[in-house]
Amino acid sequence: MNIYVDFDDCLCETARAFCDLVKEMFGKNVPYEEMRYFNLQMAYDLTEEQYDELLVRGHEPEELLSYKETPGASDTINEWINRGINVSIITGRPLSTYEVSRSWLDTHGLRDIPLYCFDKYGRENFLKGSSYGLSVEDYYKMKFDYAVEDSPSAFKFFDHLPQLKVMVFDRPWNRSCELPGENYRRCSDWETIKKLVV
Ligand SMILES: [Mg+2]
Repeated sequence: MNIYVDFDDCLCETARAFCDLVKEMFGKNVPYEEMRYFNLQMAYDLTEEQYDELLVRGHEPEELLSYKETPGASDTINEWINRGINVSIITGRPLSTYEVSRSWLDTHGLRDIPLYCFDKYGRENFLKGSSYGLSVEDYYKMKFDYAVEDSPSAFKFFDHLPQLKVMVFDRPWNRSCELPGENYRRCSDWETIKKLVV
């Protein structure tokens, strides 16, 4: 069995950290619960320059390393590994963050899990000058039975796997999105996700 797991806002609380950053950098107070858009520029109503500045700062090592683990993520994934399940982290973060992202995983008990940087979001959340390690061609060679993902922008990358069960991590920015099919389930936490993987 193979499981796809997204990184930001599935394994860790990225958006909450960005809320703090936006407040610190631009004095904007947008509570996490009110983030209606996956696109951070829209969610925080930022100018083009502010958005670029935010993405640069948010991808700095000390920021990436400070993101808090989403409760139960590491325990659940390690249970899967112990059951012989293959887990791959497929992140939309650029390759320039690979080492730091790897280090976050290693220090959160996820040492043995492969990490792939894949351009899932295109220009939607785009750090200028980014490159990615996993090509589209190689991504489509991968097969998954389950996926854990929070971003509606990434759902198109599941269309080629009709049997795939997609567990949509419930977040404010995906609540108004109609889930694309019956194989999609909204999950409020890792406890729920754990019960769905049988
Ligand atoms: Mg995500």
